[in-house]
Amino acid sequence: MTSKLAPYTLDVARRAAAAVDPARVVELAKGLVRIRSVFDEQRGTTEAGAARYVAEQLRAAGFEPVVEEAAPGRPNVICDFEGSAFDGARHRTLMFEGHTDVVTEGDPTVWTIPPFAGQIDPGPGGDPATGVLHGRGSADMKAGVAAAMAALEAVRSVAPDLPGRIRLGIVADEEGMMLGIKSFIANGWADEVAGAIICEPEENELCLFQKGAMRLHVRVYGVMSHGAMPYTGVNPLRGLADFVVAVRDFERSEHKRLGEHEYLGLPWLTPTIIKAPARGEAQLNVMPDEAYLALDVRTVPGQDHEVIEAELNRIARDLEAGTPRLRFVIECFESRPWTATDPHDPLVAAIESVYAEVMGRAPRYGGVPGATDGTFLWALKDIPIVTVGPGDRTIPHQVDEFVRLKDAVAAARLYAAAAIAYLTH
Ligand SMILES: [Zn+2]
Repeated sequence: MTSKLAPYTLDVARRAAAAVDPARVVELAKGLVRIRSVFDEQRGTTEAGAARYVAEQLRAAGFEPVVEEAAPGRPNVICDFEGSAFDGARHRTLMFEGHTDVVTEGDPTVWTIPPFAGQIDPGPGGDPATGVLHGRGSADMKAGVAAAMAALEAVRSVAPDLPGRIRLGIVADEEGMMLGIKSFIANGWADEVAGAIICEPEENELCLFQKGAMRLHVRVYGVMSHGAMPYTGVNPLRGLADFVVAVRDFERSEHKRLGEHEYLGLPWLTPTIIKAPARGEAQLNVMPDEAYLALDVRTVPGQDHEVIEAELNRIARDLEAGTPRLRFVIECFESRPWTATDPHDPLVAAIESVYAEVMGRAPRYGGVPGATDGTFLWALKDIPIVTVGPGDRTIPHQVDEFVRLKDAVAAARLYAAAAIAYLTH
């Protein structure tokens, strides 16, 4: 016996894991992949269909989900299971978190298997539950959503008297501005949440750390002039180029200062878009008056987003001082802090206590390379989060996305057992 749990709890946790129905995980994951839940203003599509499916399936299973819009046509689905012994003043609420939206499939003709067919290549003996589910969103993160839903059903079936509550939060717009989780928090749903499992594809590794992200517009203004007489104007492209080089130097100095984080690696300040002229038609013999740069900044523990923004502004002021009439305007329009959950948090301990039992191996630990909805639960509500879910870490957003269904079933078993361990502490 490797677990630190009391025998009674371990037995219930084991039974909750065993109660997960692999066929149910397969059905839900496949059903979700078949719904194209790309948010696309031009084509007028949203994740509403996938949210409706989640709510319908929960209702059919006897739960009472709440559906509320995070933005017009973009619903969140929230669903509680409270054991009969649950007392809000004494007992914990554990959240299972997921999102219904997926990124675009891009050009569907380059996919080997159609992205929304929900095709399954079954495993040995024709068993779909040990096979592979193909399609956009299969890994990121419809298999994770299916696992969370199946776990909820499994916990209810073995522990109707659970002294705790599970709150399923399946939200909209994770791939965009994360309006879903922000609305979930603003509407008070996170207030009672003591800990959250973020069911994103992380190869079922336990991730206590997530990288932070900053998104910035950098606008460089000069003075338009004839290409034959550049001395009559100010070239914003030169200013922008100097800025890019200075940002690279700043990145190098941060690498030197911080080294490589054990789970998150190095921080990055990456220029992703350069446009000049920023507006209007480009012409070879016209020096434009404005250039644009987008910066994608990824941060690690030890960095402070305000300090980074101040440093970028200092670089800009230096360059302005060297060139009269050159001007920079830097706008940070999204800031998602890095997260670091205490390894001694009870949520971490609960998951660790059942991990080997359920997964058949000691826990592996990892880091989340991007921000997730969990970022805001951690940053705005101080909620300890652990990101763990089925699917290869690098497969999201690629063509030919897939998930191994045995990993989704394993995740569901882990969620169910961890919930018992955490809520019957
Ligand atoms: Zn995701």
